[in-house]
Amino acid sequence: MAEYIVKENALRNFFQALTEGGQRTLLAPAKVGDKLQMVECEADKITLDFANTHQSPKSAFFPQTQKLMAFHKDTSKSDPFVYKPLGLDNMKPTVLFGIRPCDAKGLVVADKVFQNNRFTDPYWKTAYESSIKIGLACTAPGPNCFCTGVGGSPFSETGLDALAYVKDGGLAIKAITADAEEFLKGLSGVEAAEVAGEMAELKKAVEAKMPGPIDMAKVASGEILDIFNQPHWKDTADRCLNCGTCTFVCPTCHCFDIQDEQNEKGGVRMRNWDTCMSWIYTVHGTGHNPRPTKTERMRQRFMHKLKYIPMKQDGDCGCIGCGRCVTLCPVNIDIREVAKQMNG
Ligand code: SF4
Ligand code: SF4
Repeated sequence: MAEYIVKENALRNFFQALTEGGQRTLLAPAKVGDKLQMVECEADKITLDFANTHQSPKSAFFPQTQKLMAFHKDTSKSDPFVYKPLGLDNMKPTVLFGIRPCDAKGLVVADKVFQNNRFTDPYWKTAYESSIKIGLACTAPGPNCFCTGVGGSPFSETGLDALAYVKDGGLAIKAITADAEEFLKGLSGVEAAEVAGEMAELKKAVEAKMPGPIDMAKVASGEILDIFNQPHWKDTADRCLNCGTCTFVCPTCHCFDIQDEQNEKGGVRMRNWDTCMSWIYTVHGTGHNPRPTKTERMRQRFMHKLKYIPMKQDGDCGCIGCGRCVTLCPVNIDIREVAKQMNG
């Protein structure tokens, strides 16, 4: 695949060109208040100097709140209930620039949830498949980053169309997919170059400074019920506030709730992020709740990430080591510590 550079003085034009004259929405890392987020932004607001964005980029394909359908009653019709699907017809393709390799891998985990041999979510599929994802390799990972602990790399290419790194204030870029090669080659500021060798050297050097693999062998081979009944869960649950922060910032968490917002004339069906940490998430219409205490809810999150997703996704971990939940948990619950306890 082709390799390129974009010189520092050509970056602005390059970022502007990524929208293909307004045909694509550009999402890139930029400051919003005091936080770095992956957002729609002007070319001169994009930053290349960051560890990772505060929120993961999953909201590009799975928004926090999404309208699915409008409905109203028209009594002049034989079938008075009128439904109108929303959101699919006018979905503009995106280009994500600066997505970190861990997050791109997280989107691949989520993609297998939203599209599989039993079910396809048309909203996710349309947004995800029409996007171009240009990763930005980590040359200075953050203090809580551990992608290498869960089978990743700060230069991983999984889920990306192209991978870039910062070189002399500009960018070096390697196309990974044919679509990305086609997309990049004509863009303003892009020059052909050879960067793969330097990229491989940098990858080796950065990986050498990162944590080694987390041993999950016993979790992988263990019986679900044996792990379920381990005594450590209650201790961690006693600390957990069930605030849900870990789930909302996680690139692979994908729980949602569907609700109708309506009045007497009609309404809108909405999909909203939800969290398995919430009591109400699993409460049944009968009032029975299969996860009635914090212990069950907290155990579910870690079992899902570290046992169920690997079982369903050919061994790939449901945690990609972005470190967000480690950084943001108000009571310092650390998934790496829980993984160690689960592995006995
Ligand atoms: S962020 Fe921490 S306290 Fe909040 S739900 Fe997650 S583990 Fe519990
Ligand atoms: S579980 Fe935590 S470290 Fe792992 S991917 Fe989710 S937010 Fe990142």
